[in-house]
Amino acid sequence: MAEWSPSSWTQKPIKQDVIYEDLAGLKDSLQKLQKLPPLVTTREITNLKSSLRNVALGKAFVLQGGDCAELFDYCNQDMIEAKVKLLLQMSLVLIWGANKPVIRIARIAGQFAKPRSSPTETINGVEMPSFRGDNINGFAADPQSRQPDPSRLVSAYFHSAATLNYLRASLSSGLADLHSPLDWGLGHVITPSIKEQYAKTVNAVKDALRFMRTVGIDKDRGVETADIFTSHEGLSLEYEQSLTRHLRHPATAETGYYATSSHFLWIGDRTRQLDGAHVEFFRGIANPVGIKIGPSMAPDELVRLLDVVNPDREIGKVTLISRYGAAKIADFLPAHIGAVQASGHIPVWQCDPMHGNTQSTPSGVKTRHFTDILSELKQALEIHRAAGSFLGGMHLELTGEAVTECVGGAAGLTEDGLGERYTTFCDPRLNEKQALELAFLVAGFYRE
Ligand code: PEP
Ligand code: MN
Repeated sequence: MAEWSPSSWTQKPIKQDVIYEDLAGLKDSLQKLQKLPPLVTTREITNLKSSLRNVALGKAFVLQGGDCAELFDYCNQDMIEAKVKLLLQMSLVLIWGANKPVIRIARIAGQFAKPRSSPTETINGVEMPSFRGDNINGFAADPQSRQPDPSRLVSAYFHSAATLNYLRASLSSGLADLHSPLDWGLGHVITPSIKEQYAKTVNAVKDALRFMRTVGIDKDRGVETADIFTSHEGLSLEYEQSLTRHLRHPATAETGYYATSSHFLWIGDRTRQLDGAHVEFFRGIANPVGIKIGPSMAPDELVRLLDVVNPDREIGKVTLISRYGAAKIADFLPAHIGAVQASGHIPVWQCDPMHGNTQSTPSGVKTRHFTDILSELKQALEIHRAAGSFLGGMHLELTGEAVTECVGGAAGLTEDGLGERYTTFCDPRLNEKQALELAFLVAGFYRE
């Protein structure tokens, strides 16, 4: 295979490319980024990698979640805390359910860039470039603000840094401390059977926590503090290249190229072409990486992709994030698992039950149904079990806010109610109650 460098991707065909007119501005921004310090360290990255090895081997579970598209405006205390608390709470439920350590990865501190199905859109009769994410162009519906602005790449770095700073500070100051009371409420649960099951599960988790407090084992690290790793789609390769550094492995002293914009990067379903720029960039970085796979992925192509991205076959280096849709998973996942098993690769298998289940309401609002999300997760678990494989985790779009974007859940959100607090700039997210309920139900599958 040809020599790799942080810029070798520029020699390959690229999808979802951003065309900057302000080339001088782009050069300035990238030079600035190259001088700024890494946002994460090699120790953190390699810690995550070894945790994901355990996930691949069935010894741990990974919960990954956050916004579809983060905005610079989301960089504020309340929204960061709400998301962190939700992920922590969900992970507690999953630890109890799956009886395994849970690795938490947030889609945060850099999840700005978005792949789009069309480069342009027409709003109020005016054709303009599509919104590509806060690190690329502005959301305001006018052609001027939709022009790619390279200074946004530097802004993305500083918003990531501020978010990460508060994330780290709040975790080390005890946000994850189980001594502070947690709100386990699900709001207005309308189905009596769900209400009863939920109450039983909440009591079981509370009992376990009480027991730990009584015997004093909650003082160990892991209960008072917790790790949350960061992640985003590695879509803007100019940005990722500028933050890729040649560094020493913290334990072995071996050197390698680390993407230091976040701990974990993934390749989206639209940019995972075997001979494309994104795969080229990803094959050279030492971080653990994700690859989204859907119905358009052929089993032999999947194995070739693993060979390219992970030629040394490191266990858990690659997380396969499957996103077929509840109606299609049974047609595609078994063959994907079979091909990967036959190849000898041992990836983390993660289910993204969001992206294959997006639909539009008759009035044109993008939504997802809670029952479809749950169904894809349940099927994933069962298909992996039947194949002698492990469902290692789930990948969700969620927010700590009380939004109304996905239909269903115990509170019975209907299509008519979607207009109430529909605030996403991209895909519909589970709200805090729906996300927590999902964690309980998935924990329940493990306890069945
Ligand atoms: C996403 O995770 O927001 C996304 C765009 O996913 P996918 O690449 O699977 O469509
Ligand atoms: Mn999305």
